[in-house]
Amino acid sequence: MRTSALQLTENFAPSDKALVPIVEKVVHDESLTAEDGLLLYETTDLWSVCSLADSVRTKLHGNNAFYNINRHVNYSNVCALSCKFCDFYRKKDQEGAYAHSLEDISNEATQARLAGATEMHIVGGLHPWLPFSYYTQMLSTIKEIAPDIHIKAFTAVEIVHLARISKRGRDGIAGIASVINDLVDAGLGSLPGGGAEVFDERIHDEAYRGKIKGEQWLDVHRVAHELGLNTNATMLYGHIETREDRIKHMLTIREEQDRSITSSSSGTFQAFIPLPFIPGVSELSHLPGPSGIENLRTIAISRLMLDNVPHIKAFWIMQTLHMAQHMLQCGADDIDGTVMWYDITKVESNTTHQESSAEDLCRAIRDAGFVPVERDTLYREIERDGKSWSVR
Ligand code: SF4
Repeated sequence: MRTSALQLTENFAPSDKALVPIVEKVVHDESLTAEDGLLLYETTDLWSVCSLADSVRTKLHGNNAFYNINRHVNYSNVCALSCKFCDFYRKKDQEGAYAHSLEDISNEATQARLAGATEMHIVGGLHPWLPFSYYTQMLSTIKEIAPDIHIKAFTAVEIVHLARISKRGRDGIAGIASVINDLVDAGLGSLPGGGAEVFDERIHDEAYRGKIKGEQWLDVHRVAHELGLNTNATMLYGHIETREDRIKHMLTIREEQDRSITSSSSGTFQAFIPLPFIPGVSELSHLPGPSGIENLRTIAISRLMLDNVPHIKAFWIMQTLHMAQHMLQCGADDIDGTVMWYDITKVESNTTHQESSAEDLCRAIRDAGFVPVERDTLYREIERDGKSWSVR
């Protein structure tokens, strides 16, 4: 157990004196500027950056670090798009292409219920031929089998795709709202944060042309918030973007969160999840991807810049569990869950079976000096008796 997380005071003295004004802002709960963010990226005093981020996470969450018991389901890797960073998509008749049947999904739901999971996290490619009814039936099937499981599903990119295939693509915001309402009626509980990548026109056009742009991604989340759904936000970094682009991305999320908090919306962003680019066999496989130090620094800076987003997640599947432990000491407060199957990226595994037990997650959290707290998707504490559970 950590005995003394940094108690931040104005007396905290970074060895890089250029950081002093940033320390003062953090002490006085002032939001950091884009220039501050860049300085945090450029300083060699990484210890102070991480310590500052740790002080903020300690103020928000004490010594608690969150995990959940969940299942990730990637229903299909068939995708109409060909994003350059993506190692996951296949074209319909290409080797390795798949689309799970509703029976497969119902088996997953049964397995999830038997394992005591509280969440199913569902995302996939933009399948050109699956009908809208496939998606609503997927949700209602899961709810029939496991009514208590929270379904977090479909990135903003998929939501726009669903609006198109259900002929609501030209209805703008109203079409998006109507799609989300249909999905909620079928069992949707919240949205994950994927598909945001980095909000920048140049990078969009170069690396994921064809995907929705940042404004549309934000529109979907704004509508979801207005409809009362909580959502999450990601940033895929370490490919062709600059550090300035990352800071701009974080500030855009912060502004959007301010809008949701101050409007009549009952939904907000719950967590920000920086995702390192993993080259794999993508079209950008000649790039090295970010280093461990860059990953650590990006988590810490995310905590410091996003002062209105409650949780920063170190997604252990993409960061590795060992790095996620370090990240808990540098601003992150959540490492995601038991996962089981994850098809989108593979860092330490050659297969898509990437599972951690709750015991291993708890051990990793304790070894890092924190108290493991099982949460549900909405970050409510879970009380558990074996496989049965309830919200505390
Ligand atoms: S990132 Fe998503 S939208 Fe882009 S190719 Fe991969 S699966 Fe398709």
